[in-house]
Amino acid sequence: MSTRIDAPEQAPAKDQSGRGRTVVLAAATFITCITLIGATQWIRSPHFSVSALSALPGQWLTAIWRPWFFFFAAVLFAMQWVFPGRKDENPFSHGLVVDLCWFLLAPLLALTIISVQLRALGNGLVAVFGTPVTDLVPVLGTWKVAILAFVIADLIGWVNHWMHHKFPSLWLFHAVHHSQTEMNVFSDSRNHVIEVLIASTLTFIPAWFLGLDVAQAATLAIFSSFVSSFIHTNVRINLGPLRYIFISPQAHRIHHSLNDDHYNTNFGTVFSWWDYLFNTKHPDDRSYPRTGITDKQFPLEDSARPIAVGRTIGSQLLYPFKVLAAPFSHD
Ligand SMILES: [Zn+2]
Ligand SMILES: [Zn+2]
Repeated sequence: MSTRIDAPEQAPAKDQSGRGRTVVLAAATFITCITLIGATQWIRSPHFSVSALSALPGQWLTAIWRPWFFFFAAVLFAMQWVFPGRKDENPFSHGLVVDLCWFLLAPLLALTIISVQLRALGNGLVAVFGTPVTDLVPVLGTWKVAILAFVIADLIGWVNHWMHHKFPSLWLFHAVHHSQTEMNVFSDSRNHVIEVLIASTLTFIPAWFLGLDVAQAATLAIFSSFVSSFIHTNVRINLGPLRYIFISPQAHRIHHSLNDDHYNTNFGTVFSWWDYLFNTKHPDDRSYPRTGITDKQFPLEDSARPIAVGRTIGSQLLYPFKVLAAPFSHD
């Protein structure tokens, strides 16, 4: 399948004015209104205080320092060394340094921008719909509800991912994630904050309606982050028959492929069945293609020096806004 357009080249732009776009814009407007209602109520409430920011450094360190994750990452690094998907990729590339910085930055963004957005959205949902009346726990049990929420969240992740490939303006933000040319354990941290904001908002809404416990949601998110690290690793594994249920590093590499025959396939994160169901599973279960994006203007990393890395990440965060603003520029 070839879905090239002029820019961004890997985003399919066949249907920008169709019904899908109208539905997405209507949903975005509705969610934005609910968030604004919630934000207004929160600011006016006695619970609102900026002094909570003083706890931010400690919360950030707690989010970063996860011994089990680092043990898991070390195992994946060893697997990369022994069974590399592609032998010509350097496990200690400039891209790894940039991904590590994204790994440090991601919790900071989650604890500030994403957390504020979800708090406002939660308040707004209560204001508009009242307290969630769905209580499946007595019927299904606590962990069955959690598993149901996890499957729903994975489906929403699939839809969110598909949308970021479907709509060129969203692709600009998602291209940051696809820009890694030497995939590694930390590549799943390379995500533009706008993409994370959209994903967390879409996942939060059904979790709220299901009345999911915050601790359970956090546990499921951590499990999902382990899976996401695994599928980004440069390791030669397609999971054999389990690939019909789970996404493998090989399947996700096909998703990141530079080969235009692979574009817009394998959108899943944990379960591959969504791709079989929606006919987006690529039949290639063997190859380990090169990865990256075809946009020559994108600010790719070319150095591991701290100042250069900081500048690169800043440029990558700003790049989508610059492209979107370009038609309005008179330079
Ligand atoms: Zn993608
Ligand atoms: Zn990915």
